[in-house]
Amino acid sequence: MLNSRTSAMEQVLNRKTVEVKPPSNRISEYYGSNVFSDEIMRKHLSEEAYYSVKTSIQMGQKIDRKIADQVAASMKSWAISKGATHYTHWFQPLTGATAEKHDSFFTPSGTAKGVETFSGGSLVQQEPDASSFPSGGIRSTFEARGYTAWDPTSPAFIMELGGGKTLCIPTIFVSYTGEALDYKAPLLKSLQLLDQAAVPVCQYFDKNVTKVTATLGWEQEYFLVDEALFLSRPDLSICGRTLMGHYPSKGQQLEDHYFGSIPERIFNYMIDFETESHKLGIPLRTRHNEVAPGQFECAPMFEEASVAVDHNCLLMDVMEKVARRHNLRVLFHEKPFAGVNGSGKHNNWSMGTDTGKNLLSPGKTPRNNLLFLTFFINTIKAVHEYADLLRATIASANNDHRLGANEAPPAIISAFVGTALRSVLDEIEKRVDENTFDDLDKADLKLDIHNKIPDLLLDNTDRNRTSPFAFTGNKFEFRAVGSSANCSKAMTALNTIVATQLIAFKKEIDELVKGGENKDNAILKVLRRYISESKNILFEGDNYSAEWQKEAVEVRGLHNVKTTPEAIDFYATAKAKDIFVKNKILSERELHARQEIEFEEYAKKIQIEARIYGELVYNYVIPASVEYQNELLDNIIKLKSLSFNEEHYKEQLDIAKNITLHLNHLRSSLERMVEERKKANRIEDAREKAYAYCNNVKTLFDEIR
Ligand code: ADP
Ligand code: MG
Repeated sequence: MLNSRTSAMEQVLNRKTVEVKPPSNRISEYYGSNVFSDEIMRKHLSEEAYYSVKTSIQMGQKIDRKIADQVAASMKSWAISKGATHYTHWFQPLTGATAEKHDSFFTPSGTAKGVETFSGGSLVQQEPDASSFPSGGIRSTFEARGYTAWDPTSPAFIMELGGGKTLCIPTIFVSYTGEALDYKAPLLKSLQLLDQAAVPVCQYFDKNVTKVTATLGWEQEYFLVDEALFLSRPDLSICGRTLMGHYPSKGQQLEDHYFGSIPERIFNYMIDFETESHKLGIPLRTRHNEVAPGQFECAPMFEEASVAVDHNCLLMDVMEKVARRHNLRVLFHEKPFAGVNGSGKHNNWSMGTDTGKNLLSPGKTPRNNLLFLTFFINTIKAVHEYADLLRATIASANNDHRLGANEAPPAIISAFVGTALRSVLDEIEKRVDENTFDDLDKADLKLDIHNKIPDLLLDNTDRNRTSPFAFTGNKFEFRAVGSSANCSKAMTALNTIVATQLIAFKKEIDELVKGGENKDNAILKVLRRYISESKNILFEGDNYSAEWQKEAVEVRGLHNVKTTPEAIDFYATAKAKDIFVKNKILSERELHARQEIEFEEYAKKIQIEARIYGELVYNYVIPASVEYQNELLDNIIKLKSLSFNEEHYKEQLDIAKNITLHLNHLRSSLERMVEERKKANRIEDAREKAYAYCNNVKTLFDEIR
């Protein structure tokens, strides 16, 4: 172990920085050059075909086969002109990684002839074998086929790797029987639902609004490790986190890494992956050092949520590939090292209209403020109502190490809105009285609201770094999402719960208005009630404190769900079915399948870690300890043979004895763990197995560590 580490250090010291040279000093000159963008599509397609595709995208309708042939032909000639030889449907199966299977454009015809072909059929649909992707019991072997189907809302792109270039077509992935086997399909459905729910509410204020989209700007945190050091640790290279080892003597105590100057080797890596990302149209803008040593962050300009999700998946793939050019490995694990910060992927979420308005932006005029308050308060109400669902969407074996740990939001879902908005909410609650409301000077109230949302709101000082769900001026920031996660899970849930809430809201308003109530009065009254009903989820204090955990659970009745199996139990509740199945985001079968997959994945992850513990202990720790103990004993024998007294070798003897004690303890906890693992493996039921791994196997990890 020591030798491999020393030789790894030598390699690290001899590393040369890899020079990078972006195609131009101006990103604008190559930005999106590998994307089959709207502009290119317009240039390559007939006018009729172009508008037909655009309307299909806007209306969410199927694209006509003839038009698809035209699009495919132009995509092919564009891709070939860029040097692509193959194409693939690019999708997001429930493994969490992206998937691709390349087919050549080249089609042989005769012995020494052939042509490059790509039909509308191949663009619109492919049939990859689904049998080796997680399906949670949906797919049986005789219906192993799956379909990928083109998502025209996300542009096709060319992935460059080494000498090869491949045209990638973003798709959804469904089973032969029509069930979604990926993250994208439910996300797209949730976006459509949100659009349908939000537009009529917008129209209370502005009849010109005809479309609402959810926007997402993610912030991706990651660690970088030299390849040689990475490979010298089986735990790090296989599990993505260190299972053993001492806390660093110098971790982040001095707070000297955050926003520090970026080392040259890392800087070159950043430029390299940013260049590749920019060519792919990923709008990266921000880079900086994060809190822990070796930890960094990048963030793009926000985009329409499903494109943003695709771009995040693509970015993670690009970052991994580019890291190897620099002899680095990128770690997306939520907690690679104990004792220092873990990594998250803050999901900045809002809603925007086709009239260019951000619905979570407080705005300047009182009337706009009521629009803002409507969406703002409905979101809070939705989060209050479905906190358990949001908790479930961020649950994973990796994220369990982070939630509640150093600088990570706790497993209790609460929302932060800042003191200024909190006082606005309090004021509405106090002043908009059900009975006396009609007498109230509404203009005054609205003006007050206006004055109470000062510029200060957009100021960074009024921020709470400990909140899992924080309002940050013109968007909510879901901070508890894990760094390796596909954002879709969290975004699908958020879109769906807010949509459901908006539908309920509209129903209430319409009924009040029908009963003769003035519309603005009705809106304020209902919002007031929502504030009262959901304010116990609002928390402005320190989410890390022990007092909050106590208050949240004992006084406010909020849930503190600490482990993944408990969190994903939510998917089996009537409430989960109500929200997903009734809204047709997931069928009952799909929902159940997803839960099964998550239980299975959880158990497998812990199982792999448990096995690596065995490997580390038997192949590294015990041999190294015994070797050292032997050295000590040899030393003692030699000292004795030269007639040294016991006082001269007492220390060596103590250490040698201690090694035996530690090894005995280590072996017995390891054996207990292996016993528990074997027991867990015999369990058939996915849920029970996950619980067994969580409660009986994982609990022994710390002891071994
Ligand atoms: P901070 O670390 O202060 O939260 P960052 O600049 O790192 O800020 O990240 C903010 C993210 O929020 C960016 O990706 C940005 O594009 C995104 N964002 C800003 N406005 C919106 C919005 N209306 N909807 C979604 N995301 C947004
Ligand atoms: Mg942020």
